[in-house]
Amino acid sequence: MKPWMAVLVGVGACGAGGPFRGDVCRLPSAPVVVAPPRERAPRTRNVVLVTIDGVRWQELFGGVDAARAHGLPCGDAAALTPNLHALGRLGVAVGNHGAPVVSSGPKFVSLPGYREIISGRADAACTDNDCGDIDRPTLLDELRAGQALQPGELAVIASWEKIARASALESRGVTVSAGRHAGAGRERLRVSARAAQLLDEGARGKARPGYGDYRPDRFTAPLAREYLRAERPRFLWVALGDTDEYAHRGDYAGYLDALRSADRTVGELWETLGELGRYGEETTLIVTADHGRADSFTDHGEAPESSRVWLVAAGGAVPRAGEREAAHTVHLADIAPTLRALLGLPADENRDAGTPIAELLEPAPAVIVSR
Ligand SMILES: [Zn+2]
Repeated sequence: MKPWMAVLVGVGACGAGGPFRGDVCRLPSAPVVVAPPRERAPRTRNVVLVTIDGVRWQELFGGVDAARAHGLPCGDAAALTPNLHALGRLGVAVGNHGAPVVSSGPKFVSLPGYREIISGRADAACTDNDCGDIDRPTLLDELRAGQALQPGELAVIASWEKIARASALESRGVTVSAGRHAGAGRERLRVSARAAQLLDEGARGKARPGYGDYRPDRFTAPLAREYLRAERPRFLWVALGDTDEYAHRGDYAGYLDALRSADRTVGELWETLGELGRYGEETTLIVTADHGRADSFTDHGEAPESSRVWLVAAGGAVPRAGEREAAHTVHLADIAPTLRALLGLPADENRDAGTPIAELLEPAPAVIVSR
């Protein structure tokens, strides 16, 4: 093993006989390896955005909630989500110390949160998951309009079918596969035999842990990795959702399992970027959530505490600063302006637009945790 191969920790320490029936401690004990740390690239040319639905900042930074998981091993935050923590060390993590990272609301549910992330504007008129097709340009619209892109260079691969309505104002030129059947251009996901198999098996499979046309993350995540490797997109949005589905069922062990799997997906996407040469070096991987959870854990939406989320990013022009204390409250609407700045796109002059997140752009780090 070469010295730069960062072996992530904790999985092997789990006991198999814990009180939980979940898979948290039954994930493979082989260490997950992330790509070698790279010198800061001169620019961000590509973006991989990963959203993990309804994951609380409490688990990301505090680990397993002891009040809900008596005696569960793997309780430490870095052991629960080793890849997200490794990514934060290679780049920037915000949402723990200092000002919080929040969804703007007024209702802290998925579709408004995703619309806020991808458009860079808070959307007070969208207050539930039935608010229709997005009515404002998104980052994908802007990238398609401003650049000579090949088909397949903009893609959205999502477990939840309604993300098809939050992706782009104009679906032409954007490859979207959301849920088991929704999305324009989903046939373009047949980039390999494995991808075609995943697309078909996902379409035939059951929605559980979701409902309706939901496609479980076990199809969405490897499909996204296949697509990334084959197409090297300029912008890829991977939207995972099992965490929120288990949480709504009140299944904390299932939620943790899904979070562990999502964390592993983040590590695998980073690993894939490490295999893709200059493309990978010029790609920023950014990970966040659409909303948090109420104190009840199973719910969110009305409760103000469910506004709080988190943000981790690394690669491309993102500085290597570790966990940072945000000076000002970061809103989900600030993510797209930050990506615009990283990609060299003009700022959104709309008065509802967010502002770039200084902590992801400043070269001078204010490191408060550096392991
Ligand atoms: Zn939900």
